[in-house]
Amino acid sequence: MPKFIVGNWKMHGSLSETHTLLGQLTEAGASFERVEIVVCPPFTALFVAKQELEHSRIKLGAQNCYIGSDGAFTGEISPSMLVDMGCEYVILGHSERRQFFGETDELVARKIFAALEAALTPIVCIGETEEQRESNQSESVLSRQIGQSLSKITSAEAGKLIIAYEPIWAIGTGKTATPRQAQQTHAFIRAELRKKFGSVANDMRILYGGSIKPENAEALFREPDIDGGLVGGASLNATSFLSIIEAAGA
Ligand code: PEP
Repeated sequence: MPKFIVGNWKMHGSLSETHTLLGQLTEAGASFERVEIVVCPPFTALFVAKQELEHSRIKLGAQNCYIGSDGAFTGEISPSMLVDMGCEYVILGHSERRQFFGETDELVARKIFAALEAALTPIVCIGETEEQRESNQSESVLSRQIGQSLSKITSAEAGKLIIAYEPIWAIGTGKTATPRQAQQTHAFIRAELRKKFGSVANDMRILYGGSIKPENAEALFREPDIDGGLVGGASLNATSFLSIIEAAGA
């Protein structure tokens, strides 16, 4: 299975920055053959991004969505609106959404269900805090997040999900899990998914996220249960994002 690389731009990217960055990425398109790539710009740049990516193999994703297809939910954006905009993927349950916007596993579960109904592929984020890790709670936290966020999902639907393991202590901090640490946790996550969904879990993609950089990418991607990466900061610069893509295709 080709590695899968997702760029999470977070709240960055004016229209002109989107044009420049995607222009640089699409120009380098020939090097993408062995890697699947998704970029997730902010909502305001999705339309321009879709136009920039028209003849490219890079796919488009969003960073969040609400539930349902329309309704009186001022300020929210539905999965079907994202599909209308050309998105095929949506990041759900990112730790920044859980931490700053109070998203619970329950809400994430409903969003995943809504995204699947609209034929969007959810990229579901899970991960423990530094405190939880230091008090040996990582596995129980991950197991709870998997159990509750994926509570509405059948085994057949599970095959359509992408999971991103993002230890919160590694996001935007410059600290990365070592390849060995990350592999052990990914193997644990896969075992939990197998308990829940059976053999479908063997082919589910589990991405690593948390300060991936060109310098650490190749070693992480060499691990058997690391199927790609969710890249934040380093996806905002064409040179670093392209080197990460190259490491994924190595
Ligand atoms: C992220 O936002 O999902 C992320 C992993 O960020 P960073 O790569 O900057 O740590």
